[in-house]
Amino acid sequence: MADVPAECNIKVLCRFRPLNQSEIVRGDQFLPKFQGDDTVIVGGKPYAFDHVFPTNTTQEQVYNTCAKQIVKDVLSGYNGTIFAYGQTSSGKTHTMEGKLHDPHQMGIIPRIAEDIFNHIFAMDENLEFHIKVSYFEIYMDKIRDLLDVTKTNLSVHEDKNRVPYVKGCTERFVSSPDEVMDVIDEGKANRHVAVTNMNEHSSRSHSIFLINIKQEHVETEQKLCGKLYLVDLAGSEKVSKTGAAGSVLDEAKNINKSLSALGNVISALAEGTKSHVPYRDSKMTRILQDSLGGNCRTTMFICCSPSSYNEGETKSTLMFGQRAK
Ligand code: ADP
Ligand code: MG
Repeated sequence: MADVPAECNIKVLCRFRPLNQSEIVRGDQFLPKFQGDDTVIVGGKPYAFDHVFPTNTTQEQVYNTCAKQIVKDVLSGYNGTIFAYGQTSSGKTHTMEGKLHDPHQMGIIPRIAEDIFNHIFAMDENLEFHIKVSYFEIYMDKIRDLLDVTKTNLSVHEDKNRVPYVKGCTERFVSSPDEVMDVIDEGKANRHVAVTNMNEHSSRSHSIFLINIKQEHVETEQKLCGKLYLVDLAGSEKVSKTGAAGSVLDEAKNINKSLSALGNVISALAEGTKSHVPYRDSKMTRILQDSLGGNCRTTMFICCSPSSYNEGETKSTLMFGQRAK
């Protein structure tokens, strides 16, 4: 992948999952045609990205192509964000988390956790590291702490340097990859307890894992900070106007609004216009403001189903990704 210039640190990567069992049984067609390593053709139309991962791509390949460098950058004091966007069941959670305790099937977040500590152990002994993580979700525009179930409606504040943060959100200091995994397990367990149908719930909320790294030189006291947001977005599918009513429709409108706010911010950043970037249009974009665009490392995964059954959603997902180019 070519290096992008400093003012354009947004990478858009597209990943297709394989056909699943029920799609095969139904006799769905396999839609995408992969061309080179950066283009996919769907319905006769080519869509180009920074990279396209065909269905047989391993978790390790995905990590090495896109996330490895971000870890180095965050340890050098940059902020970053990695998103997964796509309809429900397109592979967002598989990409971001995967199977957490399986060395082959684990996704980006556990690999990042391992990589951070590997780097740190190899770095200057005079550097002291303070790493803390938070884990929360945004559901119906409410921020819920996944590490403290009593905090169900946190608000976004700005510190004295005008850096936005979620006020009162639990922060856990971690000193090994295992401790990071424990925090994720704890957050996921809390999420299960709080809702009746986990699958439905997770497809309608954005989950955000934040890794904050501070380092200080013990002699010079020189400090360096970097943070990384890892975001598993709510499903982007459109709810049929006839089928949905009441709370389901409200949820759908809310998700739609927050995903378009994100799309608008990313496309304003990608255009490189120094003019207005509409960060304030949603809670999520407010929180991510100092970790998106500018000098930050932003990577968006566009996750797609290969099935002919999902052609409409897949096309609109691909279009969303194109807006960021
Ligand atoms: P989402 O989070 O977008 O709703 P998931 O990540 O849960 O979707 O994926 C749905 C199902 O497809 C899961 O069972 C997951 O393990 C499987 N899956 C997703 N992507 C892949 C992939 N690239 N290779 C193999 N299986 C995948
Ligand atoms: Mg998911």
